[in-house]
Amino acid sequence: MRQRAARDQKRLDSGAVTSPKDLESLQRELTSLAKRQGDLEDVVLEVMERRESAQERVAELTGRADSLQAKVDDAVARRDAAFAGIDAEAATATKERELTAADIPAALLGLYDKIRVKEGGIGAARLYQRRCEGCRLELNITEINDVRAAAADTVVRCENCHRILVRTPDSGL
Ligand SMILES: [Zn+2]
Repeated sequence: MRQRAARDQKRLDSGAVTSPKDLESLQRELTSLAKRQGDLEDVVLEVMERRESAQERVAELTGRADSLQAKVDDAVARRDAAFAGIDAEAATATKERELTAADIPAALLGLYDKIRVKEGGIGAARLYQRRCEGCRLELNITEINDVRAAAADTVVRCENCHRILVRTPDSGL
């Protein structure tokens, strides 16, 4: 369009066009070309502004994505650390259990394991203030008397949940 306007302007300036009608038409074309160029420049300006705002949005979203990724990385690192901690605790507990189990007579250990499987992982419970801490029920007076009468090395069990009851000075006997 610019080339065409320059060519028109050159013809106009050269004086080669002498007919008033041609001169007028040339002039009109130049005016129209100038207007269209102005319109196109406005469009270009608008497109550039839109591109700029789109670039700002991209930068903002990239920043947010980076910050979210950092949070994800942090959470993953904390999760992995927690897993490592749990694994270490489990290993220690397993070892402790092995050591403890080694001192317990095989028959008692077998009974304990049988109850443990049946009672959701807890085979023995503390008797605390006359209450079985396995099923949370308080023993009645007859049961308490039976436990009282039992020898220290007798295995006593809860009448309700059948778990092995562990007697301590806090048992309320
Ligand atoms: Zn019980």
